[in-house]
Amino acid sequence: MSTTSSLTHSPFAPAIIDVSVVIPVYNEQGNLPLLFQRLYPVLDNLGRSYEVIFTNDGSADSSIELLTAQFNARPDVTRVIDFNGNYGQHMAIMAAFERVRGKVIVTLDADLQNPPEEIPKLLEKTDAGYDCVGGARQNRQDTIFRRYASKLVNFVRKRSTNIEMSDQGCMLRAYSCAVVEGIVRSGAINTFIPALAYTLAKKPTEVPVRHEERHAGVSNYSIGKLIRLNFDLITAFTISPLQWFTTFALACSGGSLFLVLVLAFRRIFLGAEAEGLFTLFGVLFFLISVCMVGIGLIGEYVGRTYQVVRGRTRYQVNRVLEKDAQE
Ligand code: UDP
Ligand code: MG
Repeated sequence: MSTTSSLTHSPFAPAIIDVSVVIPVYNEQGNLPLLFQRLYPVLDNLGRSYEVIFTNDGSADSSIELLTAQFNARPDVTRVIDFNGNYGQHMAIMAAFERVRGKVIVTLDADLQNPPEEIPKLLEKTDAGYDCVGGARQNRQDTIFRRYASKLVNFVRKRSTNIEMSDQGCMLRAYSCAVVEGIVRSGAINTFIPALAYTLAKKPTEVPVRHEERHAGVSNYSIGKLIRLNFDLITAFTISPLQWFTTFALACSGGSLFLVLVLAFRRIFLGAEAEGLFTLFGVLFFLISVCMVGIGLIGEYVGRTYQVVRGRTRYQVNRVLEKDAQE
């Protein structure tokens, strides 16, 4: 008999089953039926105990109805966390992480871009003692813009943090429960879970995984959301952009001082002159734009600090569908 209850598990319940699969869902009604059809047989064939935790991240379509039906069909292995609004993919994963009961936790997207059939590959690695296994997408099926934007972010991340990942954007990943517990304890907001996991892992690795086109619907990431997410990736892990900026600002100040001295010298010894006025404007505009970038950069850090200090609830749960813990 299955029942609906709320928050029956403490965040750090002991790992009592083998594998927890965590899936964030936002407007995925076109993908969920096929996802269920492909995912559950893969997990049934593992020969391990498992649970699947879906977080409905405030979907406006019929995703929650489909998830409820799946919970009623497989209540023994299905749990659904229903948010009361849209808090973003990483918070949806975080809410599930707070409730997982598996020794190994696998994350997966709901749109079938990460084939569920690849899960056993990740588990081979966790069996071999790796505590953070990242999928590296082969033949990535995304737009050219997304692929090149990822390359750029990868480049910046490599130079500004000591996080070593060849494919940070792939959400097909497996973690040990200790790594997930570390993520939950960090209480991070605006974070990028794969990178946070990497910083907590003792023995990380990667495995190549297939990547498919989104089965139905369109990406939930607008350019604005992507920019915010990638800012999170950098600002949550390092302050080196601020240091680069300060270094650059110092170099600019040195150059400006030199220019002022040259101009003062010319004014004193050659008299008033209008030549070079436009050059001066050019230099001035450049320096103003550098200042604006600096203010923006500082704002990013201050804004994030403010959100942490404010300490508001990171997400609000409407209800949780799960079998009673004692059953
Ligand atoms: N997602 C979510 N909340 C959001 C945006 C996305 O839970 O605000 C989920 C979405 O349903 C999917 C996963 O996160 O399971 C990845 O989203 P999407 O496929 O839109 O991202 P992309 O693959 O384009 O990076
Ligand atoms: Mg996708």
